[in-house]
Amino acid sequence: MSKAAGENFNLDPGGHWSPRDCAARSRVIIIIPYRDRLAHLTRWLHHYHPIFQRQLLEYRIVVTEQYGTGTFNKGRIMNAAFLECRKAFQFDCVIFHDVDMLLENDRNMYVCGNDTTPKHLSPAVDKFRYKIVFDNLVGGVLVMTVSLFEEVNGYSNEYWGWGGEDDDMWERFLEVNATVVRPPLAIGRYKMIKHKSRGKEANYTIIDPLLKTSRSRMHHDGLSNSSYRIVYKSSKPLYTHFIFDINTDKS
Ligand code: UDP
Ligand code: MN
Repeated sequence: MSKAAGENFNLDPGGHWSPRDCAARSRVIIIIPYRDRLAHLTRWLHHYHPIFQRQLLEYRIVVTEQYGTGTFNKGRIMNAAFLECRKAFQFDCVIFHDVDMLLENDRNMYVCGNDTTPKHLSPAVDKFRYKIVFDNLVGGVLVMTVSLFEEVNGYSNEYWGWGGEDDDMWERFLEVNATVVRPPLAIGRYKMIKHKSRGKEANYTIIDPLLKTSRSRMHHDGLSNSSYRIVYKSSKPLYTHFIFDINTDKS
């Protein structure tokens, strides 16, 4: 790819873009949970900026990084990023996106449905032979309106290590009578960049009991009790970058 002008994708600082000649289909914020996967992130940014512009979105890319080396908690850093973005930016649709997921078919539109139809955009992943593995899968790429994300009180803050927070979100959707919709398998296709499996970090003795109480817990576990310290924030050329210390109630 050539350097100079082409390299910044005509973005506003912080990885924001809107169509010049028409009203955008949607104002979208894409939140990427992140730690120590720079090669993935670089590839992600170069893959998606051209696609989102072809889709004529008004969009902003937000990288939410967990500070330190403690156990990862994807729910906490995604909630923190949402809350900080809500203070600073205008958007009506939010997308949570793993850094290692590369879309293959750009007819898969990064736009919201309505407040009762969250969209799971990534049912067909190469690693799983492009088949959906569980009916309640919402990990990978998940799209919903800001109102719905607020209605379910965001993600749970309680899942440390690998797994659980996405399955918990599925339960939250059930509780508010929202129905997950998906593109056809031919459209919702992704390559997952290879990485070491973190499955061994899973702690099922914690995950399984928590999942049983998702629906009663959701109103007091999520955005409403989110606790974090902003360590760093910056408008980079290709994205808005936050680093959050989320161990505020542990130390
Ligand atoms: N992640 C990260 N660094 C880590 C662990 C996780 O950036 O050390 C982020 C990244 O966006 C990743 C997502 O969390 O895609 C889910 O983690 P992972 O890819 O390990 O889970 P799996 O592939 O098993 O769903
Ligand atoms: Mn992955």
